[in-house]
Amino acid sequence: MTVTMLRSVVEAALRRAPTSSSSSSNQLLRRRCYSSDSNPERKVAVLGAAGGIGQPLSLLMKLNQLVSSLSLYDIAGTPGVAADVSHINTRSQVKGYVGEDQLGQALEGADVVIIPAGVPRKPGMTRDDLFNINASIVKSLCTAIAKFCPNALVTMISNPVNSTVPIAAEVFKKAGTYDEKKLFGVTTLDVVRAKTFYAGKENVPVAECVSQLQNSACVCTSEVNVPVVGGHAGITILPLFSQATPTSNLSEEDIAALTKRTQDGGTEVVEAKAGKGSATLSMAYAGAIFADACLKGLNGVPDIIECSFVQSSITELPFFASKVRLGKNGVEEVLGLGTLSDYEKQGLGNLIPELKSSIEKGIKFANQ
Ligand code: NAD
Repeated sequence: MTVTMLRSVVEAALRRAPTSSSSSSNQLLRRRCYSSDSNPERKVAVLGAAGGIGQPLSLLMKLNQLVSSLSLYDIAGTPGVAADVSHINTRSQVKGYVGEDQLGQALEGADVVIIPAGVPRKPGMTRDDLFNINASIVKSLCTAIAKFCPNALVTMISNPVNSTVPIAAEVFKKAGTYDEKKLFGVTTLDVVRAKTFYAGKENVPVAECVSQLQNSACVCTSEVNVPVVGGHAGITILPLFSQATPTSNLSEEDIAALTKRTQDGGTEVVEAKAGKGSATLSMAYAGAIFADACLKGLNGVPDIIECSFVQSSITELPFFASKVRLGKNGVEEVLGLGTLSDYEKQGLGNLIPELKSSIEKGIKFANQ
């Protein structure tokens, strides 16, 4: 076929094709990009949606095609955030709710509730300084969750996670709705940091981009992997660099430095922001990754494994962060710690008393 003949065939085809944006090729494209046909309806509620974490997290959840309904709740500012996010042309319908009398509506029918409500750390403040304010916020939000969406998966971002998760558990127990498979402390940011810092030290690509932006909040499939166990504050954060992939021959000094940087990641951001908040953008990313994993698990996608702070029997403590397999009912399996290096065994021994007292503090607060 000559070039002229080829051109006339193409021109004839173009003349036959509809000129509107609903052409069949566009429809096919849309079907490929938006897999909503095969994804069930899922409602996700973000509590604290107008905050530093809440806003970018709401944006990322709006980009997630597994979400059909996005409910944005805060004590102030949500109508604006919801109006803004709702203009994005992705699958979910967005609604904003403001103030306690709208909390029930915000929660009703939710499959996943993400809680970044609370106050962030300021320079010089420890996570424990936040305790009294955030503990009360979490207690009241969980009381409403028990009433309006007792079957939802609850992913807790509000700090101190080591105490807010036990508080939530106690509130749910009192309400008779506690299901240990459905309560998660979000420790994904520790994993995200450990992966980034490890890849930087090893000089390997941290992630392989697969441009999945249309399909889910995850835009990258990670190549580097580092489990992080224990809890979510200071020395209770224990990255297991001995189990990192790709494997490496890092010196003991390098591993100690990487461990410390992962543990102090939050402080690094708090100090760099100099009084203007804590980690919000990286936390929103991490929260969105974890919520996406929960939704995939609920939808029956196999082999969804993330680290999370959950009810656990792999140590003497009632809650512990480790790798968790997610499924249709939330936690399907809490995976063990694997083989630890001597350095990690020592870290585990050191973190147990501190984590134990944070857990007890949460339980005591919830029951007073
Ligand atoms: P922020 O102050 O910017 O936002 C918090 C939001 O919560 C605000 O919009 C506020 O109005 C809202 N809020 C307060 N009380 C509420 C209530 N009763 N109901 C609903 N919303 C309420 O703070 P931020 O930087 O977004 O941080 C939020 C929380 O996340 C803090 O507790 C912070 O310590 C924590 N955090 C956790 C991690 C983690 O890795 N898990 C990382 C960073 C920050």
